[in-house]
Amino acid sequence: MGSHARGTMLSTVGVFDRLGAEYEQVVYGHDPTSGLRTIIAIYSTALGPALGGTRMWAYRSEDDALDDVLRLGKAMAYKAAAAGLALGGGKAVIIGDPATDKTPDRFRAYGRVVEGLGGAYITTADVGTTVEDLDVIAETTRFVTGTSKGSGDPSPITAHGVYHGMLAVAEIAFGEATLAGRHVVVSGVGKVGGALARLLAEGGAHVTITDIRRDVAEALASQIGADLVDAAEAAEVPCDVFAPCALGPVVTDETLARFKCRAIAGAANNQLATPEHGRALAEMGILYAPDYVINAGGLINVEDELHGYDPARARRKAEAIADTLREVFRIAGAQGITPADAADHLAEERIRAARG
Ligand code: NAD
Repeated sequence: MGSHARGTMLSTVGVFDRLGAEYEQVVYGHDPTSGLRTIIAIYSTALGPALGGTRMWAYRSEDDALDDVLRLGKAMAYKAAAAGLALGGGKAVIIGDPATDKTPDRFRAYGRVVEGLGGAYITTADVGTTVEDLDVIAETTRFVTGTSKGSGDPSPITAHGVYHGMLAVAEIAFGEATLAGRHVVVSGVGKVGGALARLLAEGGAHVTITDIRRDVAEALASQIGADLVDAAEAAEVPCDVFAPCALGPVVTDETLARFKCRAIAGAANNQLATPEHGRALAEMGILYAPDYVINAGGLINVEDELHGYDPARARRKAEAIADTLREVFRIAGAQGITPADAADHLAEERIRAARG
C-alpha cells in the first residue's frame, strides 16, 4: 500500500516531464481482476517496432518502476539502432514478485495490453520472466518473440557476436583480426561466458577463466585447457583482453587502477559505472568495446524471428557486430571521443535521421 501511495503522489510531478523530448509513449496497464500493474515505455518506433523484454520485479514504488522502464526502453533503442536493426526501442515492467505473484491470468491480461498497442511494442523475456511466461502471454497477443516455438536461448548467438566483436577489437588494438596466441581473461563463465571461452580456446587463444561458482569454472577449465583464477583477482591478471561476462558494473572507482589488460570486451551489460570511467580507460590506453554494441547478438537473434527464424542468418547478422565496432572505433578516433560516446552518437544519429 505504501508504495502505491508514494507513486500516486509523485505522479502529480508529471510523467510528461520525465519523457522530455524523447519518448513516444508510456502506457499504464491495469487489470484489477488479475492484479496486473504494468508500465510499457516506447522510446522510439522511428526505425521499426519497439522490441524489448518484459521485466517482472517487486519495485518499491511505481516511481521506481517508471524510472526503470524509461531507462531500459531507451537503452533498447540505442542497442537496436547501433546494431543497424529495423527496430525501435521499448521495454515493459510488470510490478510484482516473480517468485510469488505470477499467474496465468495476469500474463494473459498483460498480453491484451501488448496486443492493444497494435505491434508498436513487441515483447520478449527479461529479468523475472521466462519462456514459459511468454507462452502464456502469446495466448492473448501476437506481438511476442522468444516463446518455446521461437528462436530459443539467445546465449550462443550472443557469445558468437562477442567473439566476432573481439576480432575487430584485436584488429584495432593489436593490428590483426585474430585472437590466436592472445591471452583473454573471461570473467563469468555462465551461458554466454562459457560459450565464449570455448570459442576463444578453439580460436587458439590462451584463455584464463573465473567464476564465483568455482566448480563450474573448474569443470570448464579442464575441458578446454584454460587457466583458472579467483574472481577477486581476475581484473589484475596481465592479459590482452579482459572479457566481463558476469554482472556490471565492472569498471568502477575501485577496479579501474587494477586492470592490466590492453582491451575490455565482453557480454555483460552496464560495464562502465559512469561515462567518466570510459574516459579513464581511454587515458590508460585500454580499448573499450561498448557493451551494448558487442552484446547485441541476443537482440539480433530475437529480431530474426520477426522474419521467420533462420539460425544461420542470425549468426551472420551477429558477425556484423565486428563491422559496427570498427565504425564505432572510427568515429571515436575521428572525433576524439571514447568508444562508448561514439556508440551513443551512432545510435542517436540513426534514430534522429529516421525520425526526421
Ligand atoms: P549467467 O547467469 O548464465 O552467467 C553469469 C555467470 O557469472 C554465472 O556463472 C555467475 O556465477 C558468474 N558471476 C556472477 N558474479 C560474478 C563475479 N563477481 N565474478 C565472476 N563470475 C561471476 O548469465 P549470462 O546469460 O551468461 O549473461 C552474462 C552477462 O551477459 C549478463 O550481464 C547479461 O546481462 C549479459 N547479456 C546476456 C545475453 C544473453 O544472451 N544471455 C545477451 C546480452 C547481454
